[in-house]
Amino acid sequence: MARVHTTLSPATSARTEARCIHHLEHLCDLPRTELRQLAQVTRHFPFRASNYYLGLIDWSDPADPIRRLIVPNRAEVEPWGTRDASHEQDYTVAPGVQHKYPSTVLFLCSSQCGGLCRYCFRKRLFGAAREHIKFDIVEALAYVAARPQVSNVLLTGGDPLMLPTGQLSRIIASLWEIPHVRIIRIGSKMPAFDPDRIGSDHELLQTLDHYGSGHARIQVMTHFDHPRELTPRALCALQALHAHGVATVNQCPISAGINDDPLVLRALFEALSYANCPQYYAFAVRPTAGNKPFRVPLVRAYELFGHAIAGIPGLAKTARLVMSHASGKIEIVGLDSNRIYLRYHRAFAPADRGRFFACRRDDNAFWLDDLQVDNGIAAAC
Ligand code: SF4
Repeated sequence: MARVHTTLSPATSARTEARCIHHLEHLCDLPRTELRQLAQVTRHFPFRASNYYLGLIDWSDPADPIRRLIVPNRAEVEPWGTRDASHEQDYTVAPGVQHKYPSTVLFLCSSQCGGLCRYCFRKRLFGAAREHIKFDIVEALAYVAARPQVSNVLLTGGDPLMLPTGQLSRIIASLWEIPHVRIIRIGSKMPAFDPDRIGSDHELLQTLDHYGSGHARIQVMTHFDHPRELTPRALCALQALHAHGVATVNQCPISAGINDDPLVLRALFEALSYANCPQYYAFAVRPTAGNKPFRVPLVRAYELFGHAIAGIPGLAKTARLVMSHASGKIEIVGLDSNRIYLRYHRAFAPADRGRFFACRRDDNAFWLDDLQVDNGIAAAC
C-alpha cells in the first residue's frame, strides 16, 4: 500500500493557494502600524485564511468575532499554557496516531487547515517551531487492524479535507476494509472556511456515499464557532453531505470574544439544529501556549452554556460542556455556591471512567488543574 504523505499534492496546493492568503499585507483594511505589530505575532503563530472566510468579516467592527477568530492578536504571545495542553504526545502510539480510549483511534492525517484559528489547541503543529506530523498510513492501518476493540477512527490533523481527494479516499477505503471499524469520523472546519471544497467535489461526495452506506458509517464533525459562519454556502455544503448519507454534528470551544455570549451561543446551537448538524461538544478552551486571549473561566463557560441550551428544542439539548483534559473528557455537570461538579465522560484510566467528583468553586479557574478537589464529596460518591 502506498504511503500517505501529509504534504499537499501540487494540484491541491494550487487550488488551495488560490483560495487562501498567508500574508498580513493582504489585509488592507488594517492600518500599517497594526500590521507591523501583528507581523511579530506571526513569527510565532502564522496567519492563514481563505478569501471566502475573510469576506465574512465586518472590518468596521474592531471586535468582529470572525476577525477575532482568524486575524492574529497581540496577546497571543503573552505567556500562558503549554504547547500540548491535553498531553496528546503521551497517547501517540505510532507516527500521527493517537489512542487514548479503547474504542477510538485518531489519525492526524493532515498537517494543513483551511485557515488557522487563533485559539487552536494544536498550534504546536503550525507555529514557527512546529512539530511535523509524520503520518504513515501503513503503520496506522496495521495498528487499527490488530485491535478489534477499535470501532471508531477519527481523521483529524490539521484538516483531513485539505488532503487531495484521492489521498483521503484511499484512507477511507482502507479503513472500510477493516471489519471492526464501524464509524469513520472526519473532523473538519472546511464547511466554515471553504464550503465549496465539499459541495463542488463530486469525487469526495461519491466516496463518502460509497463507504458510508455499508457496514461502516461516515460522520463529519464540523467546527462552526459563530452563527455568521452558517452562510448559505456553508448550509449547501452540509446539505451535500447529508444527501450523500453523511451525518454531521458540531463541536467548538467557547472562546472569549468569539462566542462567549449566551445569545450568540444559543443562536449558533439553534441554527445548527435547523441545519441537521446539532451541537455535540462545547469545549472549555485548553490552556495552550498562544491562546491566552481566548480563555474563558470554567464557571463562566458553564453559565453561558446553560443559558444557551435552556429553552432550545431537540437534539441540541444533548450537547455537553467538557474539558479535553490529559486524563479524559471531563463534563462540567453542575455548580453551586461552593462547588463545581464534574464527571468523566471518557477517561484513559479505567478507575476514572464515569467517575463523578466535585471541586471547590473557583470563579477564576480555567482548567481542572486550577481546581482543588473536594475530598469530602469525592469520598461520599
Ligand atoms: S481548524 Fe482545528 S486544527 Fe485547524 S487551526 Fe482551527 S482549531 Fe486548529
